[in-house]
Amino acid sequence: MNFDQGTTRDMIQAVAHTVIGHADELTELDRAIGDADHGVNLERGFKAVLAKIDDIAAHPIDQALSEVGKTLILSVGGASGPLFGKLFATIGQHLCAREELDKAAVVTACEQAIAVLKTLGRSDVGHKTMLDVLVPSLDRLRTAEGPASLRTVREHAHEAALATIPMMARRGRASFLGERSQGHMDPGARSSELIVGAVCDFLEARL
Ligand code: ADP
Ligand code: MG
Repeated sequence: MNFDQGTTRDMIQAVAHTVIGHADELTELDRAIGDADHGVNLERGFKAVLAKIDDIAAHPIDQALSEVGKTLILSVGGASGPLFGKLFATIGQHLCAREELDKAAVVTACEQAIAVLKTLGRSDVGHKTMLDVLVPSLDRLRTAEGPASLRTVREHAHEAALATIPMMARRGRASFLGERSQGHMDPGARSSELIVGAVCDFLEARL
């Protein structure tokens, strides 16, 4: 798919509007097992992205994603700010000035970004974090083929977010609750589902 300036802008705006539109839900999830700020944090970050969308979208897609990442790192705060920021920044960094993006390039860039996240958060699948959605979504993207592949990635992200409900948190604030973290969806897993879903919806409509 070709990412000209307009496409880059539209995709980043679609992700930002989706997250902002679910800010209250994300904050409520964080109220149950954290400190009730996840939606507030991400809303602040994605509003900062929207405020400079003209500058961001003036860059090729790789640099644009790196700029989104930097903006999130500077404005989100909390544990999720550096993690989501680094996710976007690393994906951008590994797309290496491509305008024409194929699946293999996207998969490789996402693999690199997830590896960085695991190191930064000292976390892995099963710890009840954003990784419990990002890793299975990438696994599904890697294997999915055909016109329904984006839909299956989106559905898999949804299932993966639901699957965090019975988990016991091993990283982040929720881990302080021990067994009491069970029975609630991880807020970062839900926001990751929203981001994955927004990208899938956007690409599905364009392809
Ligand atoms: P804070 O916990 O500092 O208030 P947020 O509420 O914005 O930050 O984000 C919480 C989310 O961040 C969690 O739901 C979880 O998905 C994610 N998270 C927290 N710590 C880690 C970590 N070490 N590795 C991966 N993700 C993490
Ligand atoms: Mg929080």
